[in-house]
Amino acid sequence: MKSNIILMGPPGAGKGTLAKRLIAKYKIPHISTGDMFREAIKANTKLGLLAKDYMTRGDLVPDDVTIGIVNERLAKDDCSHGYLLDGFPRTLAQAEALKKLTENLKRDVNLVINIDCDQEELVKRISGRRVCKNCGAPYHVLFVKPKVEGVCDICGGPLFQRSDDNEESLKVRLSNYYNMTKPLISFYEKSGNLVNLDGIKGSDYVYSEAIKLIGE
Ligand code: AMP
Repeated sequence: MKSNIILMGPPGAGKGTLAKRLIAKYKIPHISTGDMFREAIKANTKLGLLAKDYMTRGDLVPDDVTIGIVNERLAKDDCSHGYLLDGFPRTLAQAEALKKLTENLKRDVNLVINIDCDQEELVKRISGRRVCKNCGAPYHVLFVKPKVEGVCDICGGPLFQRSDDNEESLKVRLSNYYNMTKPLISFYEKSGNLVNLDGIKGSDYVYSEAIKLIGE
């Protein structure tokens, strides 16, 4: 089984949705830097205060800060049998730092799943995206409606729109993705661990391909 995994792809490609299904099946820690920053903001910590402005604008949080929190998290015991990185790395400096760290820990990445999706579709998905405040389950005002408007089917929590899911920040996030994150595809192609999946085919397709790649 390949259990040291990175999920890559532009915002809205379906990384978070796939991650939720994979961690339910494989019981490996889900390391989402976006979630870590959102939790820090909620808890009003120093990290949260620092990350907040960057996130609201759609900008990347500085590398030293982001690398620092991932280093700490990946070194924990629960990552010794696998981990699912979601939203990290996003820059070449992050990818290089991750390579060093995972080599030192003997927890090398053995699968990079890149979910591809065209820009028009990403904008459609993100502008209608809603998320459960309690459990983080993803919805969409047109494509994934809850049974009761504004209420999560799974836990009954309230649905909300992420503050960075607006037109302004989305422009910045997409441009950061194309300029800084997309070039990492060739970085991981060289390692021989990268697999591209077509996100336009939907979340069930992406999940069924992903579990074939990971194995049992
Ligand atoms: P996400 O939930 O992955 O879409 O991330 C939300 C926001 O958190 C991003 O737009 C960035 O502001 C910040 N963020 C998440 N991951 C990273 C990262 N690897 N490097 C820098 N900033 C990040």
